[in-house]
Amino acid sequence: MQITDSFEITKDGFYGNFGGQLISEDLKKEYTIIAEEFLRIKDDEEFIQELDELLKTFAGRPSPLYYARNLSKKYGVKFYIKREDLNHTGSHKINHSLGEALLAKKMGKTKLIAETGAGQHGVAIATAAALVGLECDVYMGEVDIQKESPNVSRMKMLGANVIPVSEGTKTLKEAVDASFAAYCKEYKTAMYAIGSVVGPHPFPMIVEHFQSVIGREARGQMLDLTGELPDYVVACVGGGSNSIGIFNGFLNDFSVKLVGVEPLGKSEKLGENAASINFGRIGELHGFRSMFLQDEAGNIADAYSVASGLDYPGVGPKHAYLNEIGRAEYVTINDKEAIDAFFELSRTEGIIPALESSHAVAQALKIAKTSSQNAKILINLSGRGDKDLDFILKNHLQ
Ligand SMILES: *Cc1c(COP(=O)(O)O)cnc(C)c1O
Repeated sequence: MQITDSFEITKDGFYGNFGGQLISEDLKKEYTIIAEEFLRIKDDEEFIQELDELLKTFAGRPSPLYYARNLSKKYGVKFYIKREDLNHTGSHKINHSLGEALLAKKMGKTKLIAETGAGQHGVAIATAAALVGLECDVYMGEVDIQKESPNVSRMKMLGANVIPVSEGTKTLKEAVDASFAAYCKEYKTAMYAIGSVVGPHPFPMIVEHFQSVIGREARGQMLDLTGELPDYVVACVGGGSNSIGIFNGFLNDFSVKLVGVEPLGKSEKLGENAASINFGRIGELHGFRSMFLQDEAGNIADAYSVASGLDYPGVGPKHAYLNEIGRAEYVTINDKEAIDAFFELSRTEGIIPALESSHAVAQALKIAKTSSQNAKILINLSGRGDKDLDFILKNHLQ
């Protein structure tokens, strides 16, 4: 990697060759307005204060940095856990949801449109919409609606409209297509509130900005607690928002190894994992260029992971770029390893992690086995496991 590489996005939305705005000319005009408004509002004192106040008093930030004493003793290294699981609504998703809702309000929009897979983003965005005073339409595949009924109920309690999507596999990818189509019709009055650092410019830039609070806090907390930076920062990668959020705090600290963990699911076979960087190729979907899982003919493949928050067939453009220049390393963890780590953290530390976050925990345990005693490993615990308990009880109680 060259020290001169920039980690900033270009004006037209590229990180190296990845990203961009592959959409119609009409929409480009609207997206340019969103980008300009965002760049203006994000530095506005009043906006910064309002968002900071909400993050603090409503979401519960700063999230603690916890020294995992039991796990550290057992594995002979030092584990530090960034507790995004303690945020209101149970994950990092509230960070960008509050930002997006406040941004939409400042832009004079009256509605948020979003897609959701497992319902985590839907709940976070419905929460932010209720708080800020916006209507909220959440598009969700029919299969996911069946599977994730507690989150569907939550969204309804919060006043959101949950709109079933019956196309294709009736899951996340089709929900993205449907919400995007709805937004294209309603863009004058609505704002698209995307759930990760994916989609056309400026959405990856916006979500990245609001998630970077994780890395800013974590870097300061590590220095306060230990006087040093970590040797490793480990985070799971679905679309890539929690990982970019924490990586951004350490990008220019070249001694810190950044490790993104992709879901290997059941196997390396196409359709049985969601490891877009490890097994994908350069392609285009949902308005941007990045690494996508696809067959020989270039058709986007179905993605699978036991952690439904990770089963997107692509990855945010900045990750594709960090991988290409070698600033971050992307590895894989399969379903079984993630479930083992789920139990290990629950029973050793008394913290029940989300299955998504369990992928990061599993990788951290692997790193520990080959590291020296004083190695400091920072894990981003993106969410808590409450939503996964039924599944674990039915299938995997050990
Ligand atoms: C949605 C979700 C993820 C995956 O999304 P990213 O954009 O990759 O962060 C990870 N962990 C939890 C708990 C989630 O809810």
